[in-house]
Amino acid sequence: MKVFKFGGASVKDADGIKNLASILKRYPSSGLVVVISAMGKTTNAMEAVVEAYFKDPQNRPNHIQAIREQHIEAIEALFEDKAAVYLPKLQAIFEELHTLLERSKSPNHSFIYDQIVCFGEILSTSIVSWYLDFIGLDVDWLDARSCVKTDDYYRNANLDWEQTQAHIRKAVDPNKITITQGFIGSDSNNFTTTLGREGSDYTAAIFGYSLNAAEVAIWKDVPGVMNGDPRVFQPTTLLETISYREAIELAYYGASVIHPKTLQPLQRKEIPLFVKSFKDPEAPGTVVGRGHVLEPMVPCYILKKNQTLLHLSTIDFSFIVEDNISEIFKLLHQTQMRVELIQNSAISFSVCVYNKYDRLDELVQQLRNSFKVEVHDQVSLYTIRHYSDAAIAYIKEHGGQVMLEQKTPETAQFVMQA
Ligand code: ADP
Ligand code: ASP
Ligand code: MG
Repeated sequence: MKVFKFGGASVKDADGIKNLASILKRYPSSGLVVVISAMGKTTNAMEAVVEAYFKDPQNRPNHIQAIREQHIEAIEALFEDKAAVYLPKLQAIFEELHTLLERSKSPNHSFIYDQIVCFGEILSTSIVSWYLDFIGLDVDWLDARSCVKTDDYYRNANLDWEQTQAHIRKAVDPNKITITQGFIGSDSNNFTTTLGREGSDYTAAIFGYSLNAAEVAIWKDVPGVMNGDPRVFQPTTLLETISYREAIELAYYGASVIHPKTLQPLQRKEIPLFVKSFKDPEAPGTVVGRGHVLEPMVPCYILKKNQTLLHLSTIDFSFIVEDNISEIFKLLHQTQMRVELIQNSAISFSVCVYNKYDRLDELVQQLRNSFKVEVHDQVSLYTIRHYSDAAIAYIKEHGGQVMLEQKTPETAQFVMQA
């Protein structure tokens, strides 16, 4: 078995879906699971529907209409004079969404979020499988929610591996091409859950692991994993092979081309992960597997924007000791900060955090009960794996003023203010 994953960029419109079909035709028409994300930026548009559900109900139909039009456009371009056959099927999915919105009265934001945003993936996979069927491929559409079982931690659900593996093995017909959704699952009451934004890569790994796949390939808009995000760093070099460990490190530090949760399950079974270009399917791309740390061995650059740097010092110049550090971490945990980097000296403690849940004021207020606090908002965190003097000079030239730096033998990090 093989597992392919096509992200939002690859299926953003009818041409993207036709390209996906042309890639599938290059492979045998069995033993393949194809995991697909919502088209283009549909998940963001679905998030706007959720916001409207809670804050601006009158505007909700307008948000839905925009999504509907985008999907109708794809259907018209894909099926041309046969579009009339598929438009009612599309309409049925929107009616399901409508009914759900009318009936739901839950005030639980995260629960409602998952029940609504999953429609992005339901729509995209439905359209793709109608099209593949239309051009004569024998495909099975699988509702990932019937297999991917999770707890009820909505918006960031945790997988029940035992149940999920058993369901996947039962549901996937190895003699066919199975089309299914990334990102979505269901809890023990069969309510929809989601695995966290950008979670479709992880779904591909879940299917790969459960099926003992020979390989997992994620098809992207880049030639593979480069030694930096080509949208940020130029020029970049293609990394031909990466070890699991190195790929986990790169993803952890923020190389967003692979979702960080994707690698562990694949590593456990030594299933190779290919990162390939849907624009150039012949090209080899990157393979993540056992063996070489990195080939070629070059410095890798990662930028995380919108970080906050906090400098803490004791009010009375006393030492920062375990007691203070544990208090600081308790507050960071309570306010759901993601800690990116820490550094301490005798009387000061610096921490770079990502304020994902907009709780910085709350954190700073509490810290000020015990410490002097300096806040530098909107700073950037640059990470260089396998750094060289030239790589550091390059970052210092481009990144702005260095606020804090830290080095280990493999990794150099710089918090910078542009
Ligand atoms: P998907 O369509 O699967 O959601 P993503 O947008 O999540 O794809 O990932 C592809 C993007 O990742 C690229 O367009 C690129 O801007 C970004 N990216 C970040 N770091 C890297 C890297 N090291 N190599 C290649 N692409 C990277
Ligand atoms: N559609 C989801 C998102 O945009 C999942 C994914 O694309 O990976 O976050
Ligand atoms: Mg993505």
